[in-house]
Amino acid sequence: MQLWRHSDSVRRGAQVGLGHAGAPMRHSSAAARHLAALPPAEVLYADLDGTLLGPGGSLLTGPDGGPSARAAQALVDARAAGITVVPVTGRRALALDGETRLLGLRDYIAEVGTVILRAGRRRYEWGSCPADLRAAAATPRAALDSAGALDVLLAAFPGDLRPFLPWDADREGGHLLHGRVDVAVANAALSAQGLGWAYLVDNGAAGGWPGRRVRAYHLLPRGVGKAVAVADDLAERGLERSQAAACGDSLEDLTMAGVVGTYFQVANGHGELGGNAFGVPGAMGHGFADAVALLVAARGR
Ligand SMILES: [Mg+2]
Repeated sequence: MQLWRHSDSVRRGAQVGLGHAGAPMRHSSAAARHLAALPPAEVLYADLDGTLLGPGGSLLTGPDGGPSARAAQALVDARAAGITVVPVTGRRALALDGETRLLGLRDYIAEVGTVILRAGRRRYEWGSCPADLRAAAATPRAALDSAGALDVLLAAFPGDLRPFLPWDADREGGHLLHGRVDVAVANAALSAQGLGWAYLVDNGAAGGWPGRRVRAYHLLPRGVGKAVAVADDLAERGLERSQAAACGDSLEDLTMAGVVGTYFQVANGHGELGGNAFGVPGAMGHGFADAVALLVAARGR
């Protein structure tokens, strides 16, 4: 799934990563000082699209579009140092089963935090889904469907909203839609039908609808998200937040800063930094590699 655009911010980020560094470099040294005061990082939660992966969702493509092995080498370096990398992504769990193996990884958090795979065991985050629906449904998506949440939205925006195929197929945590809607109106329509526990989230500019400028949307139970899933995953691992780091580019990714010891934002990211959230000089996979280098160096001190 490629929902981001190769925007000006990505190109600016690529330039920063190539050495035109100002503030991001200062952030890196500040991040190193921050890490020196923490226990060694055991886990790095990493967004995939726009973070670990380069343009086109490619591991082996640098932010400038040329070939690059930096992100792949960073995965090798993290593994050699004993740092577990866990993808945290909006992508489908079904696809992650294969993609994580290709990356030499085992666990993942998929579908915006609704599906968690750890040590071969799959479980769901249900958020505010009512207990009776949860008891009767195999997945959060099935609960949304049995409650009629998708039908409410499609009826509210006829011709302006539809499943984002093929990436909506076989999801377990929710629905991926695309089109052009007012999210506040959509969520009011859900609440009016007694479905306030479900909500529509804007996931940014998308494609796949010829002739229309559309955005992608997730339909999810309220109360789920990357931060909630990461916090629960850390608890299951028996780790403190100070033993974990996260890396991302989006505002949803930035919420992970609240539940880990250190957050790294790649140069193409867009969020307010400060506290335990630091910018790294590289964009996309090069920024992921910068984050791994900082964590490995801190472990080796
Ligand atoms: Mg991203």
